[in-house]
Amino acid sequence: MEISRDHPRYRSLIVRERMSELVRQGVVAPTGLIAHGRGEAFDYMLGERTTETAAEAERAAAAFLLEAKRPVITINGNAAGLCGEGLLSLARAVPAKVEVNLFHRSPERVEKVIAYLEGLGGKDILGREQGSKLEGIASDRAMCCTEGIYSADVVLIPLEDGDRAAALERAGKTVLAIDLNPLSRTAAGSRVAVVDELTRAVPNIERAVRELRDRRDERKRLIMEFDNAENLRRSREEMCRALR
Ligand code: ATP
Ligand code: MG
Repeated sequence: MEISRDHPRYRSLIVRERMSELVRQGVVAPTGLIAHGRGEAFDYMLGERTTETAAEAERAAAAFLLEAKRPVITINGNAAGLCGEGLLSLARAVPAKVEVNLFHRSPERVEKVIAYLEGLGGKDILGREQGSKLEGIASDRAMCCTEGIYSADVVLIPLEDGDRAAALERAGKTVLAIDLNPLSRTAAGSRVAVVDELTRAVPNIERAVRELRDRRDERKRLIMEFDNAENLRRSREEMCRALR
């Protein structure tokens, strides 16, 4: 479809076209489009910008990633399609391992998402062999890589489902989420929930990683002071203000 550049929702339409093409290629799950739509609705209420509240969460997330011993970034089909390059770049900057972990998992789709990320320059991407299990969730979604999520201390989960986010918490991981829905179980259960659109959040976190790399005291302060419940309350407040 031809989309005119001066259409007021040009960017949104381009992203939708790309996501539906990735459904045809099998990288994005059909239901991933629904999750994307929910994200768009929340972003609309946020004014499609990074709020000061989100920027604070992004700096805290960067601090946690830098302080981690074994940080892992998980990538699903939506995250790969929306922001694959950005997530790979963030993983190199930290550095963190990357694991492909799908809600609708099949070996074929895992292969497609990994191949897609490799096409963007990704190396050593985990997810083909998942030899470990997280407790307390349905078996197909419990599987993870022994040397990836299973042994991670800090996990960044862009666009994750609430059940799995809770399972990661129970397994003792520090969970950092990127999720435009400040009411989701994922956001509420995380140590840091970044309420911002993925393609804005990821470069912001990478910038903060670079800025905080040699500032250990500042990282410690950010980690100590970050209050997720309060940050989410402010995000909800910003949305209410926009609606009023
Ligand atoms: P939960 O399962 O955590 O209670 P949920 O059912 O709303 O919440 P899912 O549908 O499992 O969540 O996952 C999709 C989530 O990802 C939604 O909360 C949606 O707002 C968010 N999301 C979708 N697209 C984006 C995006 N581009 N950037 C950030 N967040 C997004
Ligand atoms: Mg859910």
